[in-house]
Amino acid sequence: MALDRSELIKALTLDDFTPYYQMADEMRRRKKGNEVKIRAIIEISNICARYCTYCGLNAANAKVHRYRMPENEIIETARRAVSVGYKTIVLQSGEDPGLDIEEIGRIIRDIKAMGEIAVTLSLGELDEKEYRYFKECGADRYLLKHETSDPKLYGRLHPDSDLETRIENLRTIKRLGYETGSGFMIGLPGQTVESLADDLLLLKTLGCDMAGMGPFISHPDTPLRGNGHGDTEMTKRVVALARLLLPDANLPVTTALGVLSQKERLEAFSCGANVVMRKTTPDPYRKYYEIYPADIPSADIPGDRLALEKMLDEIGRKGV
Ligand code: SAM
Repeated sequence: MALDRSELIKALTLDDFTPYYQMADEMRRRKKGNEVKIRAIIEISNICARYCTYCGLNAANAKVHRYRMPENEIIETARRAVSVGYKTIVLQSGEDPGLDIEEIGRIIRDIKAMGEIAVTLSLGELDEKEYRYFKECGADRYLLKHETSDPKLYGRLHPDSDLETRIENLRTIKRLGYETGSGFMIGLPGQTVESLADDLLLLKTLGCDMAGMGPFISHPDTPLRGNGHGDTEMTKRVVALARLLLPDANLPVTTALGVLSQKERLEAFSCGANVVMRKTTPDPYRKYYEIYPADIPSADIPGDRLALEKMLDEIGRKGV
C-alpha cells in the first residue's frame, strides 16, 4: 500500500477510520500471529540531567525524590521477572550522568547469563563508545524515541537539545546492530496532523524495529502543566498506520494509553499492536518514577503478570 504523506494525513483525519483498523489488525495477525510479547521494565534510576518540558523527571522538578537502584537490587528484580516467564528485560532511566557504565555492563552480562533473555536499554542519549560497549556486553535492543519529528516543536520541548542530535543517536544505535526502537507522543501542545504523518514516515526512514506511540499526558510539575492530554483515538490511529507502514515491527500498547483509558488500551491490541510492557520496578522506587501522573500500585511481579495474561486471554490473545 502506498501510504504516502498525503494519504497518512487524510487517514488520520477521517470521520470513520474503521477500514484502516481492520487492515492493521489483519496485518498484525498475518505478521505477528496472536501472541502478545510481554516485556518487564525496570526503572533503574530517575535521575535526569535533561529539561524536557513534558516529563515529570526533568532536572528542574525539585519535587521528585531521586533514586538510583543498587546493582544487586536490579539483578534480583530481573531474576524475579525471569522466574515468572519474562523473556525481555528493559532497563530504563532518566538521562543520568552518574550511571556507572561498567556496572551497567555487568548487569547486562548477568541478565544474559540467566538464559534466553533479551536485554533492552532505554537510558537516553549516550556516547557512541557507550552504546558500543553495552552492545559488546550483550545488549540486544535500544529504545530512544524521537518524540516529535517537527524540529521547531522539538526545540521548544527540549531546551537543551535538538532533533538532529536525536536522529543522529538513532542512526548510531542502528549502525551498531541494535534492534532499534523509536516512537513519539501524540497530542503535544502545538503538534499538527502533518507532523504526525512525518513522525510515521520517520519511523520508516530510520528502519525502526520497534516503535512506541503514546498520548502526551500533562504533568502538573512541568512547564507543560495545564495543557490537555493527547487524544486516545488519534493514538490508536497512529498505531494502526505504523503497523501498515512497518508490517514486521514490534509495536507496544503504551502504558500512557492505559493511564488515560483502560478500554482503549485493550482496543489498541486490535489496532496493530503486539507488545506490552509491565513495570516490574520494586518498591519503594516504582512510585518515584513518575513521568506523568498515574496510579502506581505496589509491586507484585507474579500476580501482575498473571492478571495481564488472563486479560489477554479474554480478548483471544496469548501473552508470551
Ligand atoms: N531518558 C530516556 C530517554 O530520553 O529516552 C528514557 C526515559 S523517558 C522518561 C521515556 C519516555 O517517556 C520518553 O521517551 C517520552 O516519550 C515519555 N514521556 C515522558 N513524559 C511524558 C508525558 N508527560 N506524557 C507521555 N509520555 C511521556
